[in-house]
Amino acid sequence: MSNSDYSLDRPAQGRYGDLSRNALDGIAPSEADALWILDGEDLDLLPLLQAAFEPRRRAFGRKVMVQVLNNVQNGLCPEDCGYCSQNKDSDAAIRKYAMKSDEAILAEAEAAAVSGATRYCMVLSGRGPTLDRTKRIGGLIREIKTRWPIEVCVSAGLMGDEHAQILKEAGLDRMNHNLNTSERRYEAITSTHSYADRIATLEAAKRNGIECCSGLIVGMGEDSIDICEVAFRLRELDVPSIPVNFLIPITGNQVQNDGSLTPERCLRALCLMRLVNPTAEIRIAGGREGHLRSMQSLALYPANSLFVEGYLTTKGDPVEQTFAMIRDAGFEVEGNDAYRDVQTTRAAKGESPFQIPGGGDELLKPEITRT
Ligand code: SF4
Repeated sequence: MSNSDYSLDRPAQGRYGDLSRNALDGIAPSEADALWILDGEDLDLLPLLQAAFEPRRRAFGRKVMVQVLNNVQNGLCPEDCGYCSQNKDSDAAIRKYAMKSDEAILAEAEAAAVSGATRYCMVLSGRGPTLDRTKRIGGLIREIKTRWPIEVCVSAGLMGDEHAQILKEAGLDRMNHNLNTSERRYEAITSTHSYADRIATLEAAKRNGIECCSGLIVGMGEDSIDICEVAFRLRELDVPSIPVNFLIPITGNQVQNDGSLTPERCLRALCLMRLVNPTAEIRIAGGREGHLRSMQSLALYPANSLFVEGYLTTKGDPVEQTFAMIRDAGFEVEGNDAYRDVQTTRAAKGESPFQIPGGGDELLKPEITRT
């Protein structure tokens, strides 16, 4: 049997080959195909992963972008997002603090840069920043971009044109604002702001020339059709960066595990996001360790990006372990110039190349739940 017997061009590959070729041509799957990706009983996982890998390989090769999250302000939020341990009604045991000092934030940005992160994400709890707070964030963005070759993302809640303009002028690369779930299910997870508020924030970012990052959380009691709706909505909005979170059930939060998340369900959701959004950066985000478990490396076939060292209020696998997983699976950490310089220096001294000081110790991070 020759290699060509495995080609996606073979008619026998049928639906998988069509999905892959359509994605390469920029054509979205039909709604029926999207539902089949999530629920099809006759679907085999390996050909689906291969179908999703083809557009991933064309857009990103075998590279994996690594992101580091920094909660620069934690808890104390007046909103009631039921999945979030910072919400006003949550009893989760998190440490609450106002915005960190500029020095602390800059030190953590440096640590992220030299540890191989492609992007440093500053996350602030709250409904949205004041204009004064936005100007302070803008100053930090300028400083980080001047000092280190790392991209910067900000996730700070609802924003309008004035905020977006300040951040754009400061050099912001991306603004994160997740849709989280479908429009019809939005009220089941949050009552203090609407789906339309979220869309308006993304549109303000786009209008002001800021790249948007927006994704979802799977496992909050939604149906497959809701996951499909988010995938297609993100395609309509032409979002170039899509974090796919798998609900981390945190004691004290209103939204808890709905029991739907098997490793296979998570992989199918990632494949759907890739096949609907073939050139977007698809990120394996919160919950990858607990929900994908031993299947984590397979998620690199549809996804080309992940977080290291945990999430907002939960621990994740450490950077050494994640980099080893990436390399063992035959993928490559994208890194940045600061990281490459430090790698060379550390290797010359015989030291470990993996270090992310700071950040994680400041939060009370419960161990992830391995379901
Ligand atoms: S997701 Fe953001 S807005 Fe919602 S409760 Fe958490 S910190 Fe507040």
